[in-house]
Amino acid sequence: MAHNEAVDVVLVGAGIMSATLAVLLKELDPAIKLEVVELMDSGAAESSNPWNNAGTGHAGLCELNYTPQAADGTVDIKKAVHINTQFEVSKQFWSYLTKKGTFGSCKSFISPVPHLSFVQGDDGVSFLKERFKTLIKHHAFSDMEYTEDKAKMAEWMPLMMPGRAPDEVLAATRVMNGTDVNFGALTNQLLQHLTSAPDAQVKYCKRVTDLKRNNGGWTVSIKDVNTGNTRDVDAKFVFLGAGGAALPLLQASGIEESKGFGGFPISGQWLRCDNPEVVKQHQAKVYSQAAVGSPPMSVPHLDTRVVDGKKSLLFGPYAGFTTKFLKHGSFMDLPMSVRLGNIGPMLAVAKNNMDLTKYLVSEVMQSMEQRLESLRRFYPLAKAEDWRLEVAGQRVQIIKKDPKKGGVLQFGTELVAAKDGSLAALLGASPGASVTVSIMLELIEKCFPNKASGEWAAKLAEIFPAREKVLETDAALYRKINAQNNIALELVEESSETPSYA
Ligand SMILES: Cc1cc2nc3c(=O)[nH]c(=O)nc-3n(C[C@H](O)[C@H](O)[C@H](O)COP(=O)(O)OP(=O)(O)OC[C@H]3O[C@@H](n4cnc5c(N)ncnc54)[C@H](O)[C@@H]3O)c2cc1C
Repeated sequence: MAHNEAVDVVLVGAGIMSATLAVLLKELDPAIKLEVVELMDSGAAESSNPWNNAGTGHAGLCELNYTPQAADGTVDIKKAVHINTQFEVSKQFWSYLTKKGTFGSCKSFISPVPHLSFVQGDDGVSFLKERFKTLIKHHAFSDMEYTEDKAKMAEWMPLMMPGRAPDEVLAATRVMNGTDVNFGALTNQLLQHLTSAPDAQVKYCKRVTDLKRNNGGWTVSIKDVNTGNTRDVDAKFVFLGAGGAALPLLQASGIEESKGFGGFPISGQWLRCDNPEVVKQHQAKVYSQAAVGSPPMSVPHLDTRVVDGKKSLLFGPYAGFTTKFLKHGSFMDLPMSVRLGNIGPMLAVAKNNMDLTKYLVSEVMQSMEQRLESLRRFYPLAKAEDWRLEVAGQRVQIIKKDPKKGGVLQFGTELVAAKDGSLAALLGASPGASVTVSIMLELIEKCFPNKASGEWAAKLAEIFPAREKVLETDAALYRKINAQNNIALELVEESSETPSYA
């Protein structure tokens, strides 16, 4: 009987998650044999594509939903601090690869862009002031500036100030060393680097259709989307990095840990502007507060984007609803994901989240004029002819069993791994690509615990001299690592602390 092809690792999907994990595993064990399987004809064709996400290097500098306010007015900064240090871990990996010569120039995927938060009205201002007062005490945010002075705001956000009522109550914070990341360019450079290594393959136009347990791991069925031919590959470890489509594959694996999970797809749209006269007046990512009743991922922001050396502006996202799990997916994705084990949680979420459903319907029904009205909250003089509507990537939010409510909707990410460590899947979408490296390190510690603390430990310590926990508490170490990363990634000039704008 003919044997299947055998590899150590199969990674499903060629987005930022699989690309990162594959390169990291090769660094830790150059002899590892692995295959990335992607159904599209290139890498980063779904959420990791630069126009399908906002490209914010999430570091908790400007995202107001990472710092919730309690009823007594205090602001909890734990999440912002954690995401900030996770981003420094991502930067350590990219710096390490850059120093090794993996990337031609890191300017192709990361650019310095200041991160600002912007609020309107008395409540917004008192929240931002309290947030600033709390964050500034932490070493990761010690460079943050706060202002209620409109002349200063006009300096920080020249596009956003003209055309406002003189008595409008406003405040803003700014951190100069924020970033815009082209996660598509990063993914493709990682994949290119991967294929230059022996025993590493990236196969395009191939869909993973099924997974079955075998003696030592998994048999993965792979279909050629052009010819319809199928082949089976045996792998000791499988990573389901299929983005929104990870859930159905996790269900196909049948592992105990997959039971009870469901998915709630939320689509998105942006307004995009390429007019150089407008674009040159805005050099920032400016985040504000989400409308009441809207989900956290719909906080509006007006962003400088740097893609393939060209600058554009992006405003949004406007949320929407579809039953597809991928932008290029099928309308049957959601109905086909319903199982006996998740129908309870899914119905509970549908019943308990009527506000969200109403919000999504109202977003979908918006006219272009209504979308421009939202933009004019940021940029009062925006002209319709400068902006066009584009479809963003899909996010599949996690639905999970809950003993009290039956089911809950989660807006974060969750790594689901088989007990024996032979398979892992990444569900959810936020904060996403920025914290990929931390998520993949968590995967390695969960699925390869002996190697992580044994033969891979020295290499891990070399690539990651400081992990999240110590960066959260050790101010001197944080400053040193942050400065080293910023220099290695060409975000600042070597001799100065000033960001070197693209
Ligand atoms: C609107 C929006 C805005 C966002 N903004 C930001 C942001 O500003 N900053 C940030 O850090 N993150 C952001 N994110 C999140 C970020 O984009 C994602 O977390 C990240 O790109 C996910 O990467 P991935 O590799 O898991 O998935 P993807 O990039 O979606 O890749 C999954 C791949 O798997 C392939 N695939 C699926 N099924 C199969 C199969 N059966 N067989 C073979 N291949 C398969 C798909 O074709 C796809 O190429 C945003 C996301 C969205 C949608």
